Amino acid sequence: MFRSWESNVKMQYFACRRERMELHGKNLIGGELSAEGQRSIVARNPATGKDLFPGFFEATSSEVDRAVRLAADAALPFSQCSPEKLAAFLIEIADQIQRLGDELLARASSESGLGLDRLTGERARTLNQIRLFAEIVRSGSWLQPFIDRALPDRKPLPRPDLRRTCIPIGPVVVFGASNFPLAFSVAGGDTVSALAAGNPVIVKGHPAHPGTSEMVATAIRKAVEASSLPDGVFSLVQGASPRVSIDLVTHPDLRAVGFTGSERAGRALFDAAARRANPIPVYAEMGSVNPVFLLPSAVADAERIARGVFGSFTLGVGQFCTKPGLVIGESGAAFEGLRGRLAELVRDAPAGTMLYGGIRDAFRQRVGEAAEVDGVTEVMAAVPAVVETSDKAEARAHLLSVDAGTWLENQELHEEIFGPATVAVGCDSRAQMTAVANALEGNLTATVHGTPEELEEYADMIAILRGKVGRIIFNGYPTGVEVSYAMHHGGPYPATTDAKYTSVGATAIYRFVRPVCYQDFPDASLPDELKNANPRGLWRVVDGRLTQEGW
Ligand code: NAP
Repeated sequence: MFRSWESNVKMQYFACRRERMELHGKNLIGGELSAEGQRSIVARNPATGKDLFPGFFEATSSEVDRAVRLAADAALPFSQCSPEKLAAFLIEIADQIQRLGDELLARASSESGLGLDRLTGERARTLNQIRLFAEIVRSGSWLQPFIDRALPDRKPLPRPDLRRTCIPIGPVVVFGASNFPLAFSVAGGDTVSALAAGNPVIVKGHPAHPGTSEMVATAIRKAVEASSLPDGVFSLVQGASPRVSIDLVTHPDLRAVGFTGSERAGRALFDAAARRANPIPVYAEMGSVNPVFLLPSAVADAERIARGVFGSFTLGVGQFCTKPGLVIGESGAAFEGLRGRLAELVRDAPAGTMLYGGIRDAFRQRVGEAAEVDGVTEVMAAVPAVVETSDKAEARAHLLSVDAGTWLENQELHEEIFGPATVAVGCDSRAQMTAVANALEGNLTATVHGTPEELEEYADMIAILRGKVGRIIFNGYPTGVEVSYAMHHGGPYPATTDAKYTSVGATAIYRFVRPVCYQDFPDASLPDELKNANPRGLWRVVDGRLTQEGW
């Protein structure tokens, strides 16, 4: 997919152009189409193994520099946009994406192998997410104003007037994720939460879906123009090599990074940002095994639990960051029965198309590595075995099994296998189950199945789990991440590089803002949210009390 084969690509590009050509393959640097580099990025349909055209131009270092400089120029005027104008801009983005119609879904499907039903749902999620952030911008709730009024007569020293609000952080680069070509890509949660806070955004398109990226970026550019915003508010650069990513992250004018993908890439970006002369935050959402703990009543309920676990770990061909990769219970006849039922479901599962060949190859490799660990058995792989040709990115579901003692001793079994595989871990006692919980690395989620009484009984283990994850689920499954105010999609490293923040839901905006405190400013010079009269009617903490009152 990422080969440089200019002549072949050009030939087919122009052949394609004669029929119907809307995609140009260029970078969108502010309002300008730019093609300084090589047309070296070619998407491949993972379901057919066929290349998709046109080819896309990888951004050069000077194009990256232009995009970030333009963003830096736009940062101040954009930060001063009124809430109404900013909200209208977000709604315009949603409308423009909607106007792309089914063509967007068709391109996204051919680039990702995801079905049209799934993508229709993902588009709705993307648009709803944009509308949610428009609502947040209008409400101003994210500003979280605190006001400590002056105490001129306080002894021994008077207190000054202190008023704290939040302001945008500055230009943000967002890395489109491969597994959600719409909802975690060009107009996904990272981009929209950064724009909603008033930050210009440069998106680095994922090389597996460059056409989808270009279509969505074009929609955003139209919204920028329709809203008469500065050019640098949004740019898209395409890239299929670490050079583009590193150029972006190390640009001196950049202020923050949003990323979803592998631990390897997330860590490379985090380290590059930390080495800068002026380090910046990298909000990377990376690997997670999302353990599912089965308490005795759940182990006994084999049919229901086996179906639930199977449905969750094979959903979307296992390509969700919340896919359950470990199923843990106390060994014995009941656990063996459940594992046997799970094995039957896996055996009968059809093969699925993964997002691109590289992800399929990484999946096979990780399953192979885990299966080779002494003490791990591959209970079942889906049969009949599909012909796993190198052209089609097909993969089969896998169920591995291991005893908790072996799992505890082998760190490689603690790491994510991205794709339709899960590992059943049998514990010899409740204490060993707690030891497994204790040995987990940071995760996005943990799930517990049982009765409310068992939850009480296992309270110590639940407390340990809470310390390991961003979301803890009772009698449900981790896949399916609601976009809402209370959602937290984050967790301790390596699930993310900063456990305090979420990449899904309303509070995702806090990654891209910073607090500022005004001291003794006259009322007329304060932002509206800090003015005495509270013209926006916000909930504010005034002298330690939550109130909507002004004075
Ligand atoms: P990826 O390899 O992490 O790539 C994501 C982005 O990072 C791409 O834009 C890539 O750009 C860039 N990148 C990769 N390696 C880099 C490096 N060394 N330095 C700087 N930038 C780098 O993710 P992917 O291609 O989507 O999938 C690969 C694996 O990531 C999967 O097998 C899975 O394990 C994991 N993944 C996890 C999640 C999750 O939600 N947790 C989601 C998707 C994927 P270039 O291609 O231009 O280098």
